[in-house]
Amino acid sequence: MSDCIFCRIINQEIPSKIVYEDDEILAFEDVNPLAPIHILLIPKKHIATMDDVTEEDSAVLGRILLKAKEIAAEKGLNENGYRIVNNCKAHGGQEVFHIHFHLLGGEKLGLFV
Ligand code: 5GP
Ligand code: ZN
Repeated sequence: MSDCIFCRIINQEIPSKIVYEDDEILAFEDVNPLAPIHILLIPKKHIATMDDVTEEDSAVLGRILLKAKEIAAEKGLNENGYRIVNNCKAHGGQEVFHIHFHLLGGEKLGLFV
């Protein structure tokens, strides 16, 4: 998807601060952090929204959640906790239509960020 900003980040056409990468997953720092730690985790497969997920995506989504947990521990967030967020479509506040999970932490978060 050449017009997708996160596909362009995957293809390194747009620079990002990469936290983790493998064949299926990319994790990188959010350019506009809403907490001391704000990392985005995405599948390399272009899936537009949570609503577009199918059974065949369940493994990579599971891996993303596990990787979020591991990164949280690496960043020292595991003791006090953290938040994993997916915004789906307009009412969910989604702005980038390549599915992503926000990992937020490093301070006591408000109810909504
Ligand atoms: P959404 O509102 O779609 O759930 O979140 C999109 C997130 O992507 C926002 O937190 C925004 O700051 C982040 N973002 C948008 N464009 C870029 C970019 O070019 N690079 C990075 N690293 N983050 C981006
Ligand atoms: Zn994409």
